[in-house]
Amino acid sequence: MAVLLDGKALGLSIRETVKQDVEVIRRETGVVPHLAVILVGDDPASQTYVKGKENACRTAGIRSTVIREPADVPEAKLLSDIDVLNADSSVHGILLQLPIPKHLDPDRIIPRIDVKKDVDGFTPENVAALVNGRPRLVPCTPRGVMRLLDHYGIAVAGKECVVVGRSQIVGKPMAALLLNANGTVTVCHSKTNDLRAVTRRADILVVAIGKTRMVDASYVKPGAVVIDVGISKVDGVIAGDVDFDSVQNVAGWITPVPGGIGPMTIACLLENTLVCCRGPIGGSRD
Ligand code: NDP
Repeated sequence: MAVLLDGKALGLSIRETVKQDVEVIRRETGVVPHLAVILVGDDPASQTYVKGKENACRTAGIRSTVIREPADVPEAKLLSDIDVLNADSSVHGILLQLPIPKHLDPDRIIPRIDVKKDVDGFTPENVAALVNGRPRLVPCTPRGVMRLLDHYGIAVAGKECVVVGRSQIVGKPMAALLLNANGTVTVCHSKTNDLRAVTRRADILVVAIGKTRMVDASYVKPGAVVIDVGISKVDGVIAGDVDFDSVQNVAGWITPVPGGIGPMTIACLLENTLVCCRGPIGGSRD
């Protein structure tokens, strides 16, 4: 039976440390770390995620502000919201809740976020820094995966790492982090031939595809570390991309859903907000 990688417990302990650090910053400098979230439209899942982020900030003593825009907001208005937040010295982190409505192009909007306030690590400068092996602000979900592996003493160097999914927010930065940690990395996607044959090579398998319980025991090498990033709701129940019940009998380590990477993502968002508040990161912030 696989060992459970408990992201809930580690996430809570990271949040407690953040809370203590926030208090020290406040006491010593009078500054209160401040995260601004831009929420466009009324997608229920996005509303829930933003509510979760607000609650997490509140319990850590981080100030949070949510800028709400209607689904038909013009791009120019969104860009001007970002300009205002960039110029506001009381705001340390800015996050654009994704996905955004189809008429808005994230590739034109995200680069507008001040690289020093880019808590999600999605701006081109932060992506380049990660790919170049000198990470500054790193996307929260893959960073949460690395933190969890590290916490459980799971070494990446030299391991066969397979990432299933190549999105900008999870798969690609995940692959870059594993490569930076000297893993031998393969990235799979919807056009990969014989996915099972590739995933069965993995010592560390990270799945982020958004296909409920698709990855069953037949995709997993005995003893592998299986990280399930997926989150979907089936009949009111939260499920991942991995079929936990069958895979736990084959894997050596496994993350549950819920209670795995979700809470680690939130914890890393709070940490990134602190990083932005403290700055500078990896050299000049100007
Ligand atoms: P995207 O839809 O942006 O990307 C999905 C990726 O999976 C694509 O690269 C796609 O390939 C690939 N894919 C889809 N179907 C298959 C398949 N059958 N076989 C192999 N590859 C496939 O999703 P995200 O990366 O944004 O999110 C993935 C999952 O992670 C979702 O469930 C999401 O809710 C969850 N998530 C969880 C977070 C957390 O905090 N735990 C944070 C962010 C996301 P292609 O590129 O060819 O289309």
